[in-house]
Amino acid sequence: MDLNLTPQERAFRDEVRAWLFANVPANWERDHLEDTMHQRFAFLKEWQRKVYEAGWAGVAWPKEYGGRGATLMEQVIFTEEMARAAAPQLANVLGLSLVGPTIIAFGTEEQKKRYLPKILSAEEIWCQGFSEPNAGSDLANVRTEARIEGDAFVINGQKVWNSYGWAADWCALLTRTDPQSQKHKGLTYILVDMHSPGVEVRPLLQMTGETEFAEIFFRDVRVPIANALGPIGDGWNVAIGTLMHERATLGASVQVTYRRQLDRLLELAHTVERDGRPAAEDPLMRQKLAQCHAELEIMRLNQMRSITKINQSGVPGAEGSVQKIFWSEYNQRFQQVAMEMLGAAGQLTKGAPGAIDDGLWAYSFLRARGNTIEAGTSEIQRNIVGHFVLGLPKSY
Ligand SMILES: Cc1cc2nc3c(=O)[nH]c(=O)nc-3n(C[C@H](O)[C@H](O)[C@H](O)COP(=O)(O)OP(=O)(O)OC[C@H]3O[C@@H](n4cnc5c(N)ncnc54)[C@H](O)[C@@H]3O)c2cc1C
Repeated sequence: MDLNLTPQERAFRDEVRAWLFANVPANWERDHLEDTMHQRFAFLKEWQRKVYEAGWAGVAWPKEYGGRGATLMEQVIFTEEMARAAAPQLANVLGLSLVGPTIIAFGTEEQKKRYLPKILSAEEIWCQGFSEPNAGSDLANVRTEARIEGDAFVINGQKVWNSYGWAADWCALLTRTDPQSQKHKGLTYILVDMHSPGVEVRPLLQMTGETEFAEIFFRDVRVPIANALGPIGDGWNVAIGTLMHERATLGASVQVTYRRQLDRLLELAHTVERDGRPAAEDPLMRQKLAQCHAELEIMRLNQMRSITKINQSGVPGAEGSVQKIFWSEYNQRFQQVAMEMLGAAGQLTKGAPGAIDDGLWAYSFLRARGNTIEAGTSEIQRNIVGHFVLGLPKSY
C-alpha cells in the first residue's frame, strides 16, 4: 500500500477540491438545522442531483451507467474531500453503497442501464429489505415468500427495520422462492417497485424521535420475473455481495460525518466550560479529544487498506467486518465524549431552548446506539473475523 498520491490522483484531488469549494452551499448546516427529516432529505436529494450533474456521483462506477469510471482510490479521495469541505452527504445512501455495487456485480446489461443512472442522480431512492421479525443475524431464516405465477413473482410477507423505507422508490428484497427450502437455499433477490399495489410502509418511531426506518408489508405484490437480480434460487450469494459492500463501504461514507462532528466538537471545546474554564484546557478532555482524532485516523487508514484489498481481488473481503466493528464502536465512544464535554445542555433535544446545535448532539448520541446493530451486530462481525480472518472454528 502506497499512501502517497500519484500525480494523477493529486490532479484529481485538486479538481474535486475546487469544485466543492465553488459548490458546497455556504452555511447549509445552519440553514437546515430546523428542517424536518423530510425537508432535510429533499435538500440532500437536490444536492446529490447537483453532484451527479457535475459528474462526481459514482466516482468508481462505469461511465456507461452514469459513473465517472475512475479508480477506487479516487473514490476515497472524493469522500475525503467531501469531509474536508464539510459537504452535505449524498441522499441515496443505500442505493450508492449497497444496491448499486450489487447490480454492477450481478445485474444484466438491461438492469444496469435501467437502474444505475437513477441511483446516481437520486431520482430513485432505494431501501434494503433483508431483515424480518425472525431473520436478523440469522438472515438465512428469511420467510417472505415470492411465488412464481406465469411471468411474475407474487410476494407476501413482512420486512422490518428498513432504513429510508419511507423515502424509497425501490427495494432490494430478499425472498424465499422455494417454499420447501431451508436456510441459504431457495432464496431469490428481487428488485421491487415500492409504488406497486400491495406494498404498505409503516414508519417505526425510534428513540431519537425520528422515524428513520420502517416496516414493510407485502400483500400479493406482483413483480416481473425480469426483476430478479442474479439467478432464481441463488439469492443468498447476491445478498452476501450486498452485505460485503455494506461493511466495506459504509465505513468510508460515515467518516465524512464523523470528521465533521469531531471538528465541530473541537470548536465547541474553546467555548463550552468545564469546572470554570474552557473544555479545551481541561487535561482529561484534551486526552479524550486527542484519542478520538487518533481513532479517526486509524479508521481512515484502515479504509485505505480495505480499498487496496478490493483493488487487488475485485471484491470486498471479511476485513470489512474489522472496519464495521471499528466505526460503529468508535462512534459510540465519541458520542460519549461529546456528552461528557457538553454536559447537561448536550442532552437537550431539537427545539428545546438552549439545545446546542439545535439538539444535534442528543440526537447523535441516541442514534449511535443503533450503529453496533445495523449492517450486522458487533457479535456477528466478531464471529466473521474469528472464522474468516483468524481461522477459528465456526461459532455454530
Ligand atoms: C439503525 C438500524 C438500521 C437498520 N437498517 C436496516 C435496513 O435498512 N434493512 C434491513 O434489512 N435491516 C436493517 N436493520 C436491521 C439489522 O440488520 C438487524 O437489526 C441486525 O442484523 C440484527 O438482527 P436482529 O435485530 O433480528 O437481532 P438478533 O439477530 O435477534 O440478535 C439479538 C442479539 O443476539 C446476538 N446474536 C445473535 N446471533 C448470534 C450469534 N450467532 N453469536 C453471538 N451473538 C448473536 C446479536 O448480536 C444481538 O445482540 C437495521 C437495524 C438498525 C438498528
